[in-house]
Amino acid sequence: MNINWNTQLYCLIGNPIEKSLSPEIHNYIFNINNMNCIYMCFNVEDNDLHQVLDTFKILGIKGFNVTIPYKIHIMKYLDEIDEEARLLGAVNTVKYLDGKFIGYNTDGAGFVKSLIDSGIHIKDKKILVLGAGGGSHAISMKLAQSGAKKIIILNRTIEKSKKLAYNISNKFGDISVEYDDLKSFSQYTDVDIVVNCTSIGMYPDTDEVPIDISIFSNKTVVCDIIYKPIKTKFLKNAEKKNMKIIGGMDMLINQAILSQKIWFSVDKNIAINIDEIKGFLHYSVE
Ligand code: NAP
Repeated sequence: MNINWNTQLYCLIGNPIEKSLSPEIHNYIFNINNMNCIYMCFNVEDNDLHQVLDTFKILGIKGFNVTIPYKIHIMKYLDEIDEEARLLGAVNTVKYLDGKFIGYNTDGAGFVKSLIDSGIHIKDKKILVLGAGGGSHAISMKLAQSGAKKIIILNRTIEKSKKLAYNISNKFGDISVEYDDLKSFSQYTDVDIVVNCTSIGMYPDTDEVPIDISIFSNKTVVCDIIYKPIKTKFLKNAEKKNMKIIGGMDMLINQAILSQKIWFSVDKNIAINIDEIKGFLHYSVE
């Protein structure tokens, strides 16, 4: 990497940002595309968020990502919010354009792209979503927008699954939406796709699974948005049953690529080999 006076800084703000893989992904893409850019992480305190954004404007930062816990909170400090981010109710990507900070969300689209790249179509599918936190919200809304026929939200805290189900129904009246307690999962076996959006099975608790996968037919596609470990026990169990599996690393890389497409206003000309990125991220994760 050749840093000089003209190098553009892109970054991630959140708290905590330790162990984020975003610098590896973005700097890899900058490098292989000979872009004079660098990506860094900044741990930001809640009280400093507004001041940090003002400083970014002064320094001419052209784009940044936002992670936990600021994906919703940041929206009030932005000049404009893109339609998709408004729909998903959260911002993970910000672009500076003509004196304005504009907020976008690439999480939902990143997940949907990982399904499409694996040959899975969402239209008219029955989808079981486990969890009702930030990741689940972005993914469920995007699945609804992408034409799912039915979405069932299961969560440990049932009030949160109820609220998310209500939000989906409110925006997409023609979709059938149900919600329940995570413990009731065995009542919902007739689904095409299962997505784990809980943090159950995430490092260091890698022996845990959110639900027993054996209740589903082996035609059910099993997804997990956790990327640490790359293949969770939930996915390993599904693989043993010959079910098609999709891991969280695909979503993570796709949302980063989509952020870059927003920052650089390009559609096709960022050269990326997802398998190559996955190959070296393996060392950062396992
Ligand atoms: P979050 O907003 O904190 O939500 C966590 C979810 O997990 C909630 O539904 C929570 O249920 C549930 N949960 C946690 N511990 C549980 C337990 N012991 N038993 C039952 N349910 C439990 O987190 P998030 O941002 O949605 O992230 C969730 C996971 O997705 C994390 O592992 C994160 O790394 C991953 N993620 C990956 C990507 C990607 O690009 N691949 C993007 C976003 C997130 P309650 O509501 O009952 O607490």
